[in-house]
Amino acid sequence: MNILVLNAGSSSLKFQIIATDLDRIRQDADARLLRGEVDRIGGEAVVTFQKGDGPKQKLTASLRDISAALDYVIRWIASPDSGISEIQSVSDIHAVGHRVVHGGELFTDSAIITDEVVKGIENCIDLAPLHNPTNLRGIRAVRDLLGHQMPQVAVFDTAFHHSLPVHAYLYAIPYHLYLRYRIRRYGFHGISHRYVAYRYRTLRNLERDQANLVSLHLGNGCSAAAIRAGVSLDTSMGMTPLEGLVMGTRSGDVDPAVLSLIASKEGLSLHEVESMLNKQSGLLGISGLTNDMRTLQGELTEHDDRRARLAIEIFCYRARKYIGAYLAAMGGADAIVFTGGIGENSPEIRRRICEGLEWAGLSLDENKNQQAVGREEVVTKEGSRLAVYVIPTDEELLIARDTARCILGEPNPS
Ligand code: AMP
Repeated sequence: MNILVLNAGSSSLKFQIIATDLDRIRQDADARLLRGEVDRIGGEAVVTFQKGDGPKQKLTASLRDISAALDYVIRWIASPDSGISEIQSVSDIHAVGHRVVHGGELFTDSAIITDEVVKGIENCIDLAPLHNPTNLRGIRAVRDLLGHQMPQVAVFDTAFHHSLPVHAYLYAIPYHLYLRYRIRRYGFHGISHRYVAYRYRTLRNLERDQANLVSLHLGNGCSAAAIRAGVSLDTSMGMTPLEGLVMGTRSGDVDPAVLSLIASKEGLSLHEVESMLNKQSGLLGISGLTNDMRTLQGELTEHDDRRARLAIEIFCYRARKYIGAYLAAMGGADAIVFTGGIGENSPEIRRRICEGLEWAGLSLDENKNQQAVGREEVVTKEGSRLAVYVIPTDEELLIARDTARCILGEPNPS
């Protein structure tokens, strides 16, 4: 089956076409036919296509909304210009898989999109007012362009964390607030944490219930997950993706009393303070320079910038603190897995985070760590009781596989 994978954002649309089915999944033989992105939707959009591992092709077009962007992409894919031999016309796209950010307590697994599922995603809008509406626009655009008969599947970023026990997901606030508004920890990056847990046990030849690891997704957004016996036991993001680790522009954990203090001192509304914690904090807020880790590391090495150093130190300290907390919560683990743009590509950040974890049985191999950039690798010394893995994430592959499995009626093994 040729699956179109969509990740619709407020002004961008990421897409891939992945050929997969139950045999390909079993043999780990899925084929990525195309990947691409539409940026700056709403104006003169930039569309990038990359066929297989070939060169990137850039086009520009005036695309007013997601529907126009999707129409453009589908026409291009089905045209001879794309050169994708597996897709001669739109009918060669067999299903569409969507990344949907928030599934609340309603969705504990991926789901074939029906009117009822659309209503369910709408019911979660209160929990993700920015993300779920854009995801829904993507779903509706597919219905409009490809018809109701095109099978669509929603893969939720929260679903992997549905296994959190109540003591991990409830906040210590008046209980009726949970009952009234479902205020609790949901966790995010679930597709990524689930993917790396699957790759980890494949690399180690383990059954799912033998996988005990702390997964660190460190990108522009960052989160940690404690995965015991293959399921998520705790995770650092909360009701929204603001809680937990230090991120590119998000603060992660802060004392909630800070909000009203900032509001009164700076003359801001609570909404404006929340926006400040989401968009002007984290690495950007501390450094005053950038949310981009690579640039920060450059500033540190080239100019010994004090605040770049501070931002990096706070980022790494918080990540290490969560590893310690999760090792305690899980009663120990066998591995830490790094993923996401920073986790996959920055040996220096991995080294700083792992520093001082020898007590937990972690013995980093400096050489292997330096070499491991953007590829699967173990970066600890042979015999290290706590292993460290680098595993590049592949959320799109998981979405494509879930889409195929849902449609073909096979339970999800990963
Ligand atoms: P993501 O959101 O997963 O795409 O990750 C984006 C983050 O990864 C940005 O902060 C980038 O600066 C960071 N990143 C990507 N490559 C590197 C690298 N080689 N070294 C350090 N950070 C990197």
